[in-house]
Parts: sequence; structure tokens; C-alpha cells
Amino acid sequence: MSHVMDTYARQPVAFARGEGVWLWDENGKKYLDALAGIAVNTLGHAHPRLVRALAEQAGRMLHVSNLFAAPWQEAAADRLAAISGLDEVFFCNSGCEANEAAIKVARKYGHERGVNEPAIVVMENSFHGRTLATLSATGNRKVQAGFEPLVSGFVRVPHGDLEAVEKIAEHNRNVVAVLVEPIQGEGGINVAGIEYLRGLRALCDRNEWLLMLDEVQCGLGRTGKWFVYQHADILPDVLPLAKGLGSGVPVGACLVGGRAKGVLKRGNHGSTFGGNPLVCAAVIATLDTIRDDNLLDNARRVGATIRDGLAAALAGLAGVVEIRGMGLMLGIELAQPCGDIVRAALDAGLVINVTADTVVRLLPPLVMSEAEGRMVVERLAPLVKAQLAQAPAQSAAAGR
Ligand code: PLP
Repeated sequence: MSHVMDTYARQPVAFARGEGVWLWDENGKKYLDALAGIAVNTLGHAHPRLVRALAEQAGRMLHVSNLFAAPWQEAAADRLAAISGLDEVFFCNSGCEANEAAIKVARKYGHERGVNEPAIVVMENSFHGRTLATLSATGNRKVQAGFEPLVSGFVRVPHGDLEAVEKIAEHNRNVVAVLVEPIQGEGGINVAGIEYLRGLRALCDRNEWLLMLDEVQCGLGRTGKWFVYQHADILPDVLPLAKGLGSGVPVGACLVGGRAKGVLKRGNHGSTFGGNPLVCAAVIATLDTIRDDNLLDNARRVGATIRDGLAAALAGLAGVVEIRGMGLMLGIELAQPCGDIVRAALDAGLVINVTADTVVRLLPPLVMSEAEGRMVVERLAPLVKAQLAQAPAQSAAAGR
């Protein structure tokens, strides 16, 4: 009997080590990693610069708490401020905690403006985490079911629908912020679009709301710029980050600027582990390597290689609804549920994922080369074709 709580449906493969975009399982079988631990391993596996930074820091000191000066946080926060255009960073340990901090910022901002029951506009199909507040913000009933009563103070609208948010602005005086993923990850690689983001920024400015962009999955270079909002030339007020921030070391951050600057003050928030010397060493090594190795350009270039390659290889296939995304955040939506393809891909030595039942999701490490990108296409395209070939039988078996 396993003593690990059974909260995940796990594939029957145990990885033993990795190098770059490659993983090896316990039996020595080699896999091409096009998932990066769900957008986490920015620098791939065992990146020498990250390994060195972590080993050096582990040899000096792992943790001292937030009761003392933290020059390592200053150094990491300076970098985050420089790349984001925002002002202050709160360090935490995960994406849901970064969003919890964002929700607290919004509520405090509301109270300071005399709104006693502050509300946040959130989106259908969104995903913000598994804590009570973040699962309440999440637009997926499966994530919420069984955990009611939900945290109140969220107003939901369709993702990408600016008019729906405008309507709320007209009649809901409690709204103080909008929380949105510029590209929905778990929801199926749904790109909000540049004009939508600009429209939200303008709407938030008109109403003095906070624009809170959850870039936990889509941010930190994956789309070819540091952050998706930079494609739209706007700035958010609040920016929750995690996943790729430490290249595999658990670290999250909630960045604030604009109207959100200075809202959280001493004593308003905290985290025992948040921003300890080890994770900040990972953040610094990750951000400096992205900059020094031109990984933003690489994400754009290799992302285009994979996307164009897939578009060519899958052209004319009726079961392919859409290939979408930006840079190295790509989704292939199929006309049928396709969860089985994950296992088939593992058999073929490729690590991928399926989200929202019908969307094959690719989130490779930012260090993937063009040749490796072409390999993703070579391994994946036949699997998609095979999946589509067997889909009618599966649908029939499912009684559809
Ligand atoms: N926000 C987004 C957009 C995410 O994709 C995720 C995780 O998938 C989270 C928040 C939650 O992050 P974590 O699992 O680190 O709590």
C-alpha cells in the first residue's frame, strides 16, 4: 500500500535523471521533455549554472527566516522589477500563494477605498490554484466541487469578453480588481489577445481597479518576451508568478506596481520559507541565464519551429480544431478527448500533457534547440494522427 495520498492520476513512469531537454527513466529509457514539469524547468534539467548556484548556496546557508535582512531577496527583486516594470516583490513558494497574495492586495486596496465587500472579476475556464481562495477564483467546477462553501467576492465572466467586464463596471460598485491569465494554461491554451489586454487596462484605469495578470504559467520568457503583457505594451498593477521562476526550485512571487504599490504593509502578509537564500539563488541564476543566453529569442524561434512544423504535418486533418499559443506555450485542440495520447507519447519517448480534455499541451524548457523542436514535431505528429484515427471507436465506446 502506498502512503502517498492518492490525489494525482500518475503515469507509470518514474524519471531518474535529466540533462537539458532530456529525461531518463529508472530503466534507462530516454525521453524528450516537451512539458518541463508543467512550465517549470525553464533551464531544462541539471543546467550547470543553476546547479552551481544551488550547490554554492546550499554550502553556505539554506534558510534564516524573514526576521533578518535579506540581500538575496533584494538582488532577486531588483531583477524582477527591472524585467517587469513593477516596483515591489513579495516572495512565496507557489503559484496559488502568489495569487493568494494578489487577492489580499485587491481586498486591502478595496477596503482602503471604502469598499467593505471588495469583489474581483475572474474568468470562465481560468485556473489560479488549489487553496480555498484560489480555487474559488478558478473557473472550473471540477476544482471546486466538494470544497464548498467557496470564498466569496468573485464575479465571473467569459474569458476574452471585454463587454462582459464593461457591463459589470456599470452596475457592480464592489469590484476593485480584475484577475486574468493572459494565456489560460489549464483551461486549454486560450490566448486572451493583445486588444483584450489593452481594453482591460483601459477599463481598469477608468474605474480605478487593479489589473492583476496571473502569469504563473505563461510568464517568464515562455512567449518570447519576459511577460505576455509586454506584447501589448501595458503594465499590470499586480503580477503573480511561480512555476518557471526557479527552474524547478519551488518559488513564487507577487509583484506589484501602479495603484497596488504600497498596499501591503508590515505585518499584512508573510511566509516562513518565502524568498529564502536557496530559492533566491535559483531565481537569480534562472533570470540571468535567460538574459545571457538569449532564451527569449530562443523561445520565439523554437516555438515557431514547432508550431509551423505541426501545422505542416497536421495540415488538412479534420480532427485538428486549432493549433494555438505563443512561443513555447502551445496547444493542439482536437475534436475529441485525447488523454490517451500522453501514454502513447511516453511509449514513443516524448513527454507531453493534455489539458481541458481535448488540448495537447506543449510547454518545453526554454533551452530547447531548433533541432530538438523538430524532434518534438517528428514524434508528436504521428501520435496525433493515430489518436484521431482511433477516436471514432473511442467515442462510440463512450456512448456518444
Ligand atoms: N496560476 C496558474 C495560471 C497556473 O497555471 C497554476 C498552476 O497550474 C497556478 C496558478 C497554481 O500554481 P501552483 O500549483 O504552484 O500553486
